Amino acid sequence: MLLEVDGVGKRFGGFWALQGLDLQIRPGEIRAVIGPNGAGKSTLFNLIIGRYSPTVGDIRYQGKSLIGLSPSERARLGIAIKFQITQVFESLSVLDNVRLSLIGPAASLRDLFRNNGLGAEDEALRLLDVVGLREKKHERVGSLVHGHRQWLEIGMALATKPKLLLLDEPTSGMGPDETRKTAELVKGLGRELTIVVIEHDMEFVRSVAETITVLNNGALLAQGTYDTIKNDKRVVDAYLGKGG
Ligand code: ADP
Ligand code: MG
Repeated sequence: MLLEVDGVGKRFGGFWALQGLDLQIRPGEIRAVIGPNGAGKSTLFNLIIGRYSPTVGDIRYQGKSLIGLSPSERARLGIAIKFQITQVFESLSVLDNVRLSLIGPAASLRDLFRNNGLGAEDEALRLLDVVGLREKKHERVGSLVHGHRQWLEIGMALATKPKLLLLDEPTSGMGPDETRKTAELVKGLGRELTIVVIEHDMEFVRSVAETITVLNNGALLAQGTYDTIKNDKRVVDAYLGKGG
């Protein structure tokens, strides 16, 4: 297994956002994680990347525990994330945002405006090709539509050359057309890396993931193929029946 979540719980004050969670992700897999708002999906990602540490349990990556490693140490091991809430430099161009993420987590604006250390332009353009944003390279990120901003952040997450890519609601704010393109992008990336994607769009989930994990109230509610999940009464009652 590339990633093993083993009996993980996370408590905030008196409230368990996650409890007793076990999860295994195979190398090369694209896994979807679904569930109602507040189910603990983003908390799971924050535990994997090291923004939070588990109250109980262990998280192993390539067979080794991640507990105690900082987010940047985990990034160096090949774990990257596109957050639910976008995290970009609004006033900079699309290209400069990708160049900054190529410089790495310690990048500062000074690095960008210095004339040296910017050999990364070719690589930045290549990443913009991957996410379909090359023509937008000079656009200010603050003026991008929501969908393009999501693609940019996926490109920025790829800059660290991840083995495990976590995508938190990558189609949020997208129409059907952009959602389909994002599914194609994710499937393409899935040929080279392992992906865990949190999503609400069931058509997206069906098209990208073989296995779907359903969280509810901080615990695993169900897991299986799209057809299994779609017909599972507990999933329908807790989530699907409420209109996604
Ligand atoms: P989801 O992503 O599935 O919508 P989250 O993982 O963001 O859910 O949140 C799960 C629960 O944990 C929610 O009730 C949320 O309010 C709570 N929670 C998440 N992060 C924190 C935090 N830093 N402090 C306190 N409560 C939190
Ligand atoms: Mg969330």
